Amino acid sequence: MKAYLIFTGTELLLGQIVNTNAQYLARQLADRGIDLFTQVTVGDNRKRIAEAIAAARGKADLVIINGGLGPTEDDVTREALADALGLELVENPEALEIVKRFFELRGLPFAAANMKQALAPAGARVLDNRVGTAPGLMVEQEGSVYVLLPGPPREMEIMFTEQVIPYLKANKPLEAVIKSRVLKVIGLGEPLVEEKVRDLIASANPTLAPTVKMGEVHLRITAKAENSELACRMIAQLERQVRERLGEYIFGVDEETLEQAVGGLLSAHKLTIATAESCTGGLLAHRLTNVPGSSNYFQLGAVTYANRFKNRLLGVGLKTLSAYGAVSPNTAREMAKGIREYAHTDLGVGITGIAGPGGGSAEKPVGLVYLAVDFRGEITVHREQFLGDRQTVKARAVHTALMLLWQKLKSLEPDN
Ligand code: ATP
Ligand code: MG
Repeated sequence: MKAYLIFTGTELLLGQIVNTNAQYLARQLADRGIDLFTQVTVGDNRKRIAEAIAAARGKADLVIINGGLGPTEDDVTREALADALGLELVENPEALEIVKRFFELRGLPFAAANMKQALAPAGARVLDNRVGTAPGLMVEQEGSVYVLLPGPPREMEIMFTEQVIPYLKANKPLEAVIKSRVLKVIGLGEPLVEEKVRDLIASANPTLAPTVKMGEVHLRITAKAENSELACRMIAQLERQVRERLGEYIFGVDEETLEQAVGGLLSAHKLTIATAESCTGGLLAHRLTNVPGSSNYFQLGAVTYANRFKNRLLGVGLKTLSAYGAVSPNTAREMAKGIREYAHTDLGVGITGIAGPGGGSAEKPVGLVYLAVDFRGEITVHREQFLGDRQTVKARAVHTALMLLWQKLKSLEPDN
């Protein structure tokens, strides 16, 4: 089955919002083995939307048009669909019910402008919207189906999964399913990762494709098969091979983040952690606490920017600060130790560095960061020289801190 996606919205064209619906729908189609041929974005303009729909006519079995189902003047997708398919726009009683129900449930007066949302091309099927006002629509013509979905992501997703997928299952038998799984590698650069799996990257189905993302290498395994079970089995087999070679570097799969992996290990070992940050301004604490349930292990995050607080709060020696400077392995070490002792945690992390763009010197250039991890008094210090702007240095430093934590935690015995 061939699909064509049309997104409407001037705000998309202006770059004011990111087209997250495109990613969602493209993935959904791929999961169902539907070949997506084209994706286009058009402004809120009746003529141009109609032209985009007309261009898909005869080329696709499934055409999804997203956005512009609201009650305002610039919402013209219904009209454009009727124009493109040569259908009349008529009041649809079922659509009217859905719109009216929305207002009744919320105790709001029915606005005349919303009458527009009860219009549909003649012969259209109405898709219920249980979380918004705009009903979706579906029109079959010459063996193709045209589906109109609302723009707000939640409304679109619920309508798609609850109504469009069942329709496709019933009416358009699957030719194949495409499944994929991402294995996330850390602590090994892309060239080395590739070297270890080069022969596997050459395979045609399932495929193995590496991508790099902020210090992580992601290996995406994609399998195309008759059914989902078979695709999963093919993926599992390739995954086993990859794990045999890279297992010790794989921290997670699919959507799993490094902070989740760290959090999982902290929980599993029943360990607690506290952080003392300088140049990263609390970003490590932020990432650690992005994980639901992090209160089980995260105890304290201090942002000690000024030297006097490194001294007063963490007990970093004034002599250390004057002899070696705030950006030094010695200071990082004393920060990690200081916060761990203050918070009575198993782990303490200290980060100090120069995020830039100013403040660097020949001896201590911008991007120089020291990271220390204190695990029950056993302290390791790590030196990094990052490239990039201020935000990038901060992000990379935190990423490295999480990597060091993950590596430390992974090396522990199960009952530690
Ligand atoms: P409404 O009744 O809210 O007007 P609509 O069906 O007319 O719904 P749009 O007006 O196109 O939809 O979009 C409404 C809002 O939904 C946008 O302002 C935007 O926040 C979000 N949205 C629309 N399209 C997308 C998209 N492709 N990706 C992400 N968000 C989107
Ligand atoms: Mg709108």
